[in-house]
Amino acid sequence: LHQLNLTTHYVELGNYPEWPMRIPQKIKLYTFEQLPMYLRENPYITDGYRAHLPSKLCLRSIFVLSNETVNIWSHLLGFLLFFSLAVNDGVKVLPASGASREDYVIYAIGLFCFQVCMLCSVGYHLFLCHRSEKTSRRWLALDYAGISVGILGCYVPGIFYSFYCNFWRQVYSLTVLTMILLVFGAQFHPRYMSAEWRCIRVSTFFGVAVMGVVPTIHWVLLNGGLTCDIVRMFLPRLIVMYLIGAAAFVFYITKMPERCFPGHVNYIGASHQVWHVLVVAMLYWWHQTAVDIMQFRHSQPCPPRTQ
Ligand SMILES: [Zn+2]
Repeated sequence: LHQLNLTTHYVELGNYPEWPMRIPQKIKLYTFEQLPMYLRENPYITDGYRAHLPSKLCLRSIFVLSNETVNIWSHLLGFLLFFSLAVNDGVKVLPASGASREDYVIYAIGLFCFQVCMLCSVGYHLFLCHRSEKTSRRWLALDYAGISVGILGCYVPGIFYSFYCNFWRQVYSLTVLTMILLVFGAQFHPRYMSAEWRCIRVSTFFGVAVMGVVPTIHWVLLNGGLTCDIVRMFLPRLIVMYLIGAAAFVFYITKMPERCFPGHVNYIGASHQVWHVLVVAMLYWWHQTAVDIMQFRHSQPCPPRTQ
């Protein structure tokens, strides 16, 4: 308990090595060695860091070229993409495919999750350089929460349309919701954001994503195996989604290519930027797949209830 209190205390008060320090009036960029300890995450990105900023300058730094510019803008554009997809679905795609109220709800939830995921990430990359360590870590926790919401947004239409005609839909929906809420709640554990728990955090998200294999295999079996039409149409698309996700994860974990070229990809081409772009690509791909599954479902009504 004593140790736990110490950790909480540390996070609560923050760590100001240069305290007391003047609030900067403009945005200056720092090298990795000049950073306060809590910002030293990736030594292969050697320069272009923002640090010590008050909230207003964090926000203003959106228009300043730093090593976070691509990270911020990639997910800001991602947010705009999913926002316009939501509008387009609502006024064009769904009415055109004779959608029911349920379809609207599923699409709204899915795209809302994607937008939340994007905005949490934008917020994190903007406020990561906040002069208070506590604020910086809060945003990091929110970035992680955003990822679990994004994964939920993938599961919702996936589960809804794959198990369209039977009660497994409810079973899996509840399981997924519980799982995501657990992951979401875990971040409130005082040690969750600590450096020692990085491995636990990363494997949690990995686990939540890989869990999708269970309903997939079940879905293939329920449809009578790999030769069935719907399986032949949509299994490859699911596999492509997992491949994009796996590629994103590999970049995230290995810190490639900056590991091989330290200092050469500080502003553009770093692993985290590739991760961002691949995440947007994956969510977009999955949204398009969901549209196709929905249209397939509407063209083939459920057989009369057997159970
Ligand atoms: Zn990010």
